[in-house]
Amino acid sequence: MGVGSALLTVAKFMVGAHPIQKRDAARNSGTIYGGETVRVRRQWNDQRIGKIRWSDMSNPRWDIVSGGTQAKAPQPFVHAYVQCDKVQGNIAHSCSHGPGPHNIKVCLVKKDNSKEVWNYLMKIVGKKPPRRFLSGR
Ligand SMILES: [Zn+2]
Repeated sequence: MGVGSALLTVAKFMVGAHPIQKRDAARNSGTIYGGETVRVRRQWNDQRIGKIRWSDMSNPRWDIVSGGTQAKAPQPFVHAYVQCDKVQGNIAHSCSHGPGPHNIKVCLVKKDNSKEVWNYLMKIVGKKPPRRFLSGR
């Protein structure tokens, strides 16, 4: 192993160690770390699941209409917006309809996400509203 690769190993270790400390501190204070992984789908029943960072997500709220195809869900789901180039993995989005990155609407499903992410999300969006509250839009 040359000096270069030894340094690289040290650098990787330092970068890797840092978020873990921040994440623990965030959990202890009842919030979550901005780099926390959030798993998203394009719509509630899509099989494809992508990953984004908590800090890349904006405007989370209960909604019944998905992005893209505008499909109506049978009940409200939490939706949020994210720039499409921040999504890791293949969700149902094509960049072909215009210059990117696009601000896309994604769906957050409880079973896809950690308890920490979900609990914190619920603090932001509040309790699930009744279906009739959203279906008229
Ligand atoms: Zn795109």
